[in-house]
Amino acid sequence: MQTPSTAPSSSGLNPPIPDLVDDIPATGPVAPPPCIADPSAPLSFPPRFPQDRGFYREMKARVYRSFRDSKTSPFGGPRMVLKTVTILLWFAASYAALVFFSTEWWHGVLASISLGLSIAGIGFAIQHDANHGAYSSNPGSNRLLSRTLDFLGASSYVWGWKHNVLHHTWTNIEGSDSDVELGVIGRLAPLQKRYWFHRFQQYYLWLAYGLVAPKWQIWDDFYNLATARISKHPIVRGGWGTVVGVILGKLVFAGWAIVIPLCYHPFWQVVAFSALTWGFMGIVLSVVFQLAHCVEEAEFQDARAAAKNPALPWAEHQLRTTVDFAQGNPILTWYLGGLNYQVEHHLFPRICHLHYPRIARIVRETCAEFGVPYSANPGFFSAIASHYRWLRRMGRPQAA
Ligand SMILES: [Zn+2]
Repeated sequence: MQTPSTAPSSSGLNPPIPDLVDDIPATGPVAPPPCIADPSAPLSFPPRFPQDRGFYREMKARVYRSFRDSKTSPFGGPRMVLKTVTILLWFAASYAALVFFSTEWWHGVLASISLGLSIAGIGFAIQHDANHGAYSSNPGSNRLLSRTLDFLGASSYVWGWKHNVLHHTWTNIEGSDSDVELGVIGRLAPLQKRYWFHRFQQYYLWLAYGLVAPKWQIWDDFYNLATARISKHPIVRGGWGTVVGVILGKLVFAGWAIVIPLCYHPFWQVVAFSALTWGFMGIVLSVVFQLAHCVEEAEFQDARAAAKNPALPWAEHQLRTTVDFAQGNPILTWYLGGLNYQVEHHLFPRICHLHYPRIARIVRETCAEFGVPYSANPGFFSAIASHYRWLRRMGRPQAA
């Protein structure tokens, strides 16, 4: 099964995200992968980025040099193995507590919340790095650990296209980045159609984020593969190996998440505690990703306008559309798999998240030198407040 770990490079597709281990990459205009370019549908034609003006080249050189000078690998190593074992044991203990040992309703509530948090932790800190090829220098290890997402009921293959290619390349570009499209339920970006009920979205969307997991597990993966599209973008459907891998993942997921609990508990209890577990997980997962891109400090672009008149080179575009938060909080940094350092992640998706706090200083200094904005909310709650204000602004009738 072929999973794009970043925008594919060896398959003839132009890599929009240069690879750290390629040393300092050649810069140049970024072409859309041919499988995505679709001239017949203007909105689905993603923009090319103009050539780097020296900013990204210099930043990569400095970051790369810091790894070389400290004789450190940009991948995970033993610390990531220990972190992975810790999170997987947390998951297993929470699952066992919920399914085998809960005798009171409040046992189930506490175990469901713990299980939801541990599942989000697997998403943040294990599968995300592995799917980007940042967990290990060994591609086989990355592939194996990326399957933790299939184990959780969502296809790592579809995620590779949706996240690594579409989101990471055309971040916050409406019509290209499907992460900023919620359908009619929410208006996240200025050019999206506004409905009257969006006036209240800053209140209700937090709960609606809880639907994200079942939507992926039950609908999105099948729909995306059947139509070979994500949002307006064609994707490569993959061969039979891909299809079999996706179905096997769903079956394994259904086994541990539905069949085994049904052997021990009545149907309504399985439904209720599953809803709590996955709803809580979806809210945590969605909010963390929203705090990086759907906040007041982030900018949005329109794919049609950007395709005709690209404004900024790719790396500078990332700096304007991505925001860090709570950089000084080691507990959050551990749990979120460095996703509070999304700026560093977007610029260096092939570097393991354990290194983000260290390279953040280099990124910040290089931005200051080149006059490129670098945004970070100081804390978790200031980022939450910024997301709330952004939702409120997008829901107002006068919002542009
Ligand atoms: Zn990512």
